[in-house]
Amino acid sequence: MPNLIEFSDNVAELRESATIAVSQQARALRAAGRTVLDLGAGEPDFATPPWIVDAASKALREGATRYTAVAGIPALREAIARAATAESAAAGTDGVEADQVIVSTGAKQALFSACFVLFGAGDEVLVPSPSWPSYDQILRLARATPVPVPGDPERGLRMSADAARDAATPRTRGLILNSPCNPTGAVYSAEELGALLALAAERDWWVVSDEIYRGITFTADAPSALHVAANRDRLVVVDGVSKRYAMTGWRLGWAIAPREVITSMTALQSQMTSNATTVSQHAALAALSDIPRATVDVQRMCGGFRTRRDAARTIVIEAGIPHVPPDGAFYLLLDVGAAAAARSSTDGGDIGGTGFARRLLDRHGVATVPGEAFGAPGWLRVSYAAPTDDVVEGVRRVAALYRATD
Ligand code: PMP
Ligand code: GLU
Repeated sequence: MPNLIEFSDNVAELRESATIAVSQQARALRAAGRTVLDLGAGEPDFATPPWIVDAASKALREGATRYTAVAGIPALREAIARAATAESAAAGTDGVEADQVIVSTGAKQALFSACFVLFGAGDEVLVPSPSWPSYDQILRLARATPVPVPGDPERGLRMSADAARDAATPRTRGLILNSPCNPTGAVYSAEELGALLALAAERDWWVVSDEIYRGITFTADAPSALHVAANRDRLVVVDGVSKRYAMTGWRLGWAIAPREVITSMTALQSQMTSNATTVSQHAALAALSDIPRATVDVQRMCGGFRTRRDAARTIVIEAGIPHVPPDGAFYLLLDVGAAAAARSSTDGGDIGGTGFARRLLDRHGVATVPGEAFGAPGWLRVSYAAPTDDVVEGVRRVAALYRATD
C-alpha cells in the first residue's frame, strides 16, 4: 500500500533516538523469551532511594496531584538554587536565584527548550564529537545546524578549544558541552572547560552545558561550567535527578540560565507540557532538601559503578581493545573498528560498530549501542549500569567477538 501520509518539513530529518531504541529492542527480546545482557541502556539499574519514594508518596497522599507553576514549584526552584549556591560558595563564585531556574520533564526537555529558544535557522552550533545523539536532533528540530567538533584522540576524545575555534564560522552561535561525557565517560578539567568557555565568551556564543552525569565520577569531581565561566550571561547549565539519584522514570530535570532565557523557556514549556509532573517535583524536592542523606546514596551507587567499570576495563585491557579511559558516567567507548573491518572483509558482513553490535546481540545476546549513533563509526558503547555479573559476562563476550574477528 502506498504511504499516504506526508509529514511536515519539521520532521524531515528526524530520527528516533538510537540509545532508546536499543533498550527497547533488548526489552522486546527479553519479553519474547530470549536471555539478553543489556549493556545498552543508559540508566542506573539501581532503585530510587526508598526515602525519596516515601516522600513522593506522602506528597501524593497530601494532594500533590494538580498543576503547578509551569517553571516548577517555588520550593523546588529554591532548593535547586540553594544547592547550586552552596557549590558556588565552595568554588568562590556567585550564587544562583530561584528565578534563574526552570524545572522540566527531564534534562532532555530542558535541553530541547534551551536550544529551541536560543538557536534557529542559519545558526551553527558546535557539538563535541562523539556525543549523545539527541543534541544533533534537537538542534535540527530547532532548524539550527549542528557542527561536529572532533574530539582529541590524545585526550580521551575531549573537545579542545583549538578544535572548536577551527570548526567555528561567522554563523556559529553556540557550543554544547557535556562533562562527564556520554558516550566516553571522559571528564573535562577546569582548565579545559575554562578554555572553551573563554572562547565562547570572546565570540559571544551561547553555551549549553549538559551536566546530567556530574554526580557520577570516580577520580576527581567534574567541575561545573557554572563555577568555571567568567560570567554567566550566555550560559545555560542543564542537570536533573535521572542519573545521580537513579530517577530516570520520574522525568525531572532543570536548567539554570539568565532570567530572560528562563522566561522564554517557561513560555515554550507552557505550550508544550506545562509543569513537570507534580509528584516528581516533590520527589526531587525531597532529594535536594537533604543533600547529605542523598550523597550517601550517590556514593553507594558510584561505588557500584566504579566496581563494574574496573571489572569491565580489566577485560577490555586484556583483550587489547582500544578505548577511552572513563572517569565518570557509566559508559565505556570501545574502538572495535579494526575487528569489525576484518570481519566484514572475510564474511562480506556489515562494516563498523553497527555490524559488530548487531552480531553481538543476534549471536551472543549482548545489547550495546553502535558508535555510529554518537558520530563514532567503528566504535561501540557499553553501558556498565547493569548488574556486575552481567557486565562481566557481557564484556567477556564483546572481547571474545573482538578477538574472533581480529
Ligand atoms: N543528557 C545526556 C548526555 C544523557 O545521556 C541523557 C540521558 N537520558 C540526558 C541528557 C537526558 O536525561 P533525562 O533523563 O533527565 O531527560
Ligand atoms: N541517555 C541515555 C542513553 O544514552 C538514555 C536514553 C536517552 O535518553 O538517550 O542511553
